[in-house]
Amino acid sequence: MGDGASASCLFCKIVQGQIPSRKIYEDDEVIVFHDIHPAAPVHLLIVPKLHVDSLIDAGADQQLLLGKMLLLASRLAREQGATDGFRLIVNNGPGGGQEVFHLHFHVLGGPRPWRHMSVGR
Ligand code: AMP
Ligand code: ZN
Repeated sequence: MGDGASASCLFCKIVQGQIPSRKIYEDDEVIVFHDIHPAAPVHLLIVPKLHVDSLIDAGADQQLLLGKMLLLASRLAREQGATDGFRLIVNNGPGGGQEVFHLHFHVLGGPRPWRHMSVGR
């Protein structure tokens, strides 16, 4: 969770604008952009600006932030066209199939079929 982790972290680089992304929302705590390899017509990543490896590493200090991310997921899913519901996926740790070790929520929605999202390649 320190500077060492964030210096080499892909999502920290996106947060800092060092790597481009298709951003749809940003505030002082959270950034939201389209997944580069979408598994559904709507596939958003809800990413806290604070580097936290995963939900496993989140604590009470992040409680409000996590609630905000959940509400954003619901609002932005609808705004991006997932009008009849959405799926929320949070992969945590190697055992949970996580590949980018900066906490993020996947928001999937839109007309099917969807690509199968692999769990733990
Ligand atoms: P996870 O397996 O939960 O760690 O998911 C990481 C997600 O990040 C995958 O769905 C990738 O397609 C996505 N991803 C990787 N690199 C980028 C990028 N540069 N911009 C947007 N999404 C990315
Ligand atoms: Zn990071």
